[in-house]
Amino acid sequence: MAKIAFIGLGNMGGPMARNLLKAGHAVAVFDLSKPAVEALVADGASAAASPAEAAKAAEIVVSMLPAGAHVKSVYASEGGVIDSMAKGGLLIDCSTIDVATAREVNAVAEKAGVDMVDAPVSGGVGGAAAGTLTFMVGGSDTAFERAKPILQAMGKTIVHAGGPGNGQAAKICNNMLLGISMIGTCEAFALAEKLGLDAQKLFDISSTASGQCWSLTSYCPVPGPVPTSPANRDYAPGFATAMMLKDLKLAQEAASKAGAAIPLGNQAASLYTLFDAAGKGGVDFSGIINMLRGKM
Ligand code: NAD
Repeated sequence: MAKIAFIGLGNMGGPMARNLLKAGHAVAVFDLSKPAVEALVADGASAAASPAEAAKAAEIVVSMLPAGAHVKSVYASEGGVIDSMAKGGLLIDCSTIDVATAREVNAVAEKAGVDMVDAPVSGGVGGAAAGTLTFMVGGSDTAFERAKPILQAMGKTIVHAGGPGNGQAAKICNNMLLGISMIGTCEAFALAEKLGLDAQKLFDISSTASGQCWSLTSYCPVPGPVPTSPANRDYAPGFATAMMLKDLKLAQEAASKAGAAIPLGNQAASLYTLFDAAGKGGVDFSGIINMLRGKM
């Protein structure tokens, strides 16, 4: 069993660290929030006074932080994790961050003789608690093989997406597609309503026809056809609009740097910005159907 340092114990990181403890690893934890640390210590973790202190004693560091700036400062600042880690260590950043920062921090780690992967997740808080997350992993073959058994304690599907930053690239490409397909699905149901076409009929036809997609068949934005979808509980998340917007902005940033045209991704970002600005950041992202209906 490994000596692991876990940094960032929020909604996702807390349950992920708990699954590493359950798998029998020795886990030292750090978070800026004291109550978050105390909750993990009560479950068997040890508390570290700083990311550096946690890293000094660890073979592996796992992190789950809000954004690229946090990841850069925790890992690559002077006296941070990479400076403190022994050569030959392994770093696993599970946060969703921009591709450029993921690649930059990976290069700093490589220079210091430390393996690193970016391993953002899909599956949300439920998947984190159940240990069923999907990890999209970017990094060298060696780093991936070393990270895999650790990720398996927190998730079910572990995919190697390619070199450094490609985990983040996979995550934002997928979520941009999801944002676009959800808006398309919502538009179809809103149009059907105006045309007097029953929502269940549209579902029955489109779910077996060429309009079929995950936003329709697994996450239908109207109540009824898919009983587990957030539409059946007044759009309680699920996957909050603020999170979708974060990922769409990351896609825009990456597309702008790479010179890729994403006209529909940009449109989706604008629509989710409007929905968020209307105070709906905490509403499930499928709730955007109400904005398209003009009913907010
Ligand atoms: P969160 O805000 O609940 O947790 C973030 C934690 O990081 C907080 O406890 C905060 O105190 C801590 N933190 C911030 N800066 C720190 C620092 N410098 N050192 C130590 N700790 C620090 O967020 P979350 O929902 O757990 O999300 C974490 C990451 O996972 C994000 O990148 C998010 O995009 C991604 N993600 C979240 C979900 C979800 O459903 N919540 C799903 C997929 C991916």
